[in-house]
Amino acid sequence: MEAAAEGAEQGGGGAGGPEEPVVSLAEVLAENEELEKEARAVLGGSDHERCSYSQGAVKRQALYACSTCTPAGEEPAGICLACSYECHGTHKLFELYTKRNFRCDCGNSKFKNLQCKLLPEKGKVNSGNKYNDNFFGLYCTCKRPYPDPEDEIPDEMIQCIVCEDWFHGRHLGAVPPESGDFHEMICQACMKHCHFLWAYASQLAVPALTKVNSLEDKGIILNVEESEEQKKEIKKESGVEHQEKEEGKQIEQFNEPSTSSGSSCPEIVTKSEDPVCKLKELQSKQFLKKDTATFWPSNWRSKLCTCEDCLKMYSELEVQFLTDECDTVLAYENKGTSDQETDRRDPLMDTLNSMNRVQQVELICEYNDLKTELTDYLRRFADEGTVVKREDIQHFFEEFQSRKRRRTNRMQYYCS
Ligand SMILES: [Zn+2]
Ligand SMILES: [Zn+2]
Ligand SMILES: [Zn+2]
Ligand SMILES: [Zn+2]
Ligand SMILES: [Zn+2]
Ligand SMILES: [Zn+2]
Repeated sequence: MEAAAEGAEQGGGGAGGPEEPVVSLAEVLAENEELEKEARAVLGGSDHERCSYSQGAVKRQALYACSTCTPAGEEPAGICLACSYECHGTHKLFELYTKRNFRCDCGNSKFKNLQCKLLPEKGKVNSGNKYNDNFFGLYCTCKRPYPDPEDEIPDEMIQCIVCEDWFHGRHLGAVPPESGDFHEMICQACMKHCHFLWAYASQLAVPALTKVNSLEDKGIILNVEESEEQKKEIKKESGVEHQEKEEGKQIEQFNEPSTSSGSSCPEIVTKSEDPVCKLKELQSKQFLKKDTATFWPSNWRSKLCTCEDCLKMYSELEVQFLTDECDTVLAYENKGTSDQETDRRDPLMDTLNSMNRVQQVELICEYNDLKTELTDYLRRFADEGTVVKREDIQHFFEEFQSRKRRRTNRMQYYCS
């Protein structure tokens, strides 16, 4: 995972010199785990050796933009993880985290002076790719770099799952809930684009944090509603009227000449329930439409209607991925984790399978010896809080080799 961990730092421009840092083993272990977790999150599902171009538009992958090859003012281009290492290793890269449905641009017509070392044969452009200002290192509605040297306000950036741009928590039109309380965020512009989601928001969304309401409401917290009629004071009683007005608008927008029988809306997900459109049902109730981002819990996507009409609407709005739980960053990260666990196990299993019984026993013994002895050896350092240096590890392996020689000379297949 070393290479990947280094890669995760590429965007930040970490210099990572050849110097060996001197730290205690406990720190090394803790830090490695953190780095590995972080790297796994971004790089987990991506191939770091082969250019992903041959896979076509990859469902989700770690992406980079190279400001050396395609600086601002030029056409935006995105490159895959493997290309970021192999073809742009010394260049200034923007780390774009992960994006969906993207095909690697490395070396195509957008690159004037660069040929891809991994897969030089590429089409001129990838017409299906979507680009935004992230490809020039600018984020959010405020179009700022990240990290931003001129921004002193500590603020977490949150990625919108529709446009995949990143936003300052304070530029979402609403105060985001605690980060552990929601799973996905949809930005203001994308909520305008996907206005049907407001009907779901009343049922599913995690409420934005509220400014304390001065009305003497009996323990009920009203959300900060910044509706189109912002100026009107929202009193509790009039809040209902307000909702009804919004609802009226919604019905106008969405109720196409109603297809009378429910059978035109077959349910795919829940078989037992009546085959009705969940969206139409929600739209017949009261809900609010605001000019804010929205925040969603895990598994909310599976609650979206998948009737024929809705699927058609998703594709018209180019948001078909919304009904796909596997599109989430979490699903991608989990895939990376399980892929790596398979990777880790495989070499040993492959070796074992190719050996005869005696060789297998020998290898397992040796492995167990090594593991026990190395653990014991390292524990001494951890207990004393002293640092492990390269020489120490070298020393251990030299010792281990000579002990092993002694042992195997004595008796052949003895497992200590
Ligand atoms: Zn590539
Ligand atoms: Zn480059
Ligand atoms: Zn390349
Ligand atoms: Zn911003
Ligand atoms: Zn968005
Ligand atoms: Zn529907």
